[in-house]
Amino acid sequence: MRKEVLEKIHHGHMGIAKCRERAAQSVWYPQIGKDIEERVTNYCRQCLEERASHPKEPLLPTPLPNRPFEKVALDLFELKGRSFVVVTDYYSRYPEIGYFWSPNQKASTLVTKLKIIFARHGIPETVVSDNQTNLTSHEFQRFAQDLGFQHITSSPHFSSGNGAAECRVKLSKRL
Ligand SMILES: [Zn+2]
Repeated sequence: MRKEVLEKIHHGHMGIAKCRERAAQSVWYPQIGKDIEERVTNYCRQCLEERASHPKEPLLPTPLPNRPFEKVALDLFELKGRSFVVVTDYYSRYPEIGYFWSPNQKASTLVTKLKIIFARHGIPETVVSDNQTNLTSHEFQRFAQDLGFQHITSSPHFSSGNGAAECRVKLSKRL
């Protein structure tokens, strides 16, 4: 009896929400909600095959790169009279931190430091950073061109990108 009911409720291979809606209008027994869920997610071959051939889009806002140091985030900050540059690998989340003895570094000294870091790990394909003047300078753009990486700047007002950057900077300061 319950099996037949579930069959009817799932007619047309509707999803869980739709099936529940249908059940609410017609039939009820204890645990019918759970049965519907089971039926739709685990026991209907046609639905299983349908889902397998149309996998859902990943929920991650940024897909994981294929290898370490393919895509990195670049953050600059100052602490106790020094300037720091942090290069965080999107693949391993590994942060590489470089520092200078004085604040307000010029683009040229930043570039030199980055060359050292890239020499150790390889040249990334993509570098993501905010819009600090150092990073939008001609010098930095030339550096990106020479090494052949794509430089993506996210606006500091773009909350999600900025939140991630703040997180990385906070972590680096602790280290
Ligand atoms: Zn189905």
